[in-house]
Amino acid sequence: DAFTQLKLSRPIMRSVAGLGWTKPTPVQVRTIPLALQGKDICGSAVTGSGKTAAFMIPILERLLYRPNQAPQTRVLVLVPTRELGAQVHSVATNLAKFCDVRISLCVGGLSRAAQEAELRTRPDIIVATTGRLIDHVRNSAGVGLDGLEILVIDEADRILDEGFEDELNEIMSLTPRSRQTMLFSATMTDDIDSLVRLHMTKPVRLFV
Ligand code: AMP
Repeated sequence: DAFTQLKLSRPIMRSVAGLGWTKPTPVQVRTIPLALQGKDICGSAVTGSGKTAAFMIPILERLLYRPNQAPQTRVLVLVPTRELGAQVHSVATNLAKFCDVRISLCVGGLSRAAQEAELRTRPDIIVATTGRLIDHVRNSAGVGLDGLEILVIDEADRILDEGFEDELNEIMSLTPRSRQTMLFSATMTDDIDSLVRLHMTKPVRLFV
């Protein structure tokens, strides 16, 4: 399997080559084509499997394919921790090296005011912890999710373990129902299942 088989655009192929990646990981082989078709995906991939690029590559393809007129936040990636947020942001930034895409990191420990100002400029992609994002949603008019096209819930089981079920539901209720949703979780519990049934449309289930 080579990246060429995934029929990716030049800017993405360039960044993948620049990272020294020679072939896609199994989760990438299975996820990328489905995600490019716009399908909702519920996957059980774990950290280390290459899952970040598995959702980020099709996201960037989509942003490249359908450029935006007005600045609008089109993608939200929710993660359980600051550390994972920083990792996802770094992978996304590397993959987007040759794309005209703005990516913001919205996690605790960074200045709230600076973040709010950045969110107001409507970055194309926000990578956020649920806690910090809900803080912005509730206490400032900074975040705009009404034009959201893709929502990723990464390590959903850990987000629920932190007690953020209501916050997840609140955030999702602010996004268009027509959005594409990708959820990843190491474990598939009943709580995850109800989240999937409530918020996802005909999800494809991937166990990698
Ligand atoms: P993740 O599972 O997303 O945390 O990724 C684990 C590590 O694998 C990260 O350091 C990625 O940069 C790296 N990685 C992702 N995809 C590939 C690939 N196709 N080839 C080589 N390394 C990769």
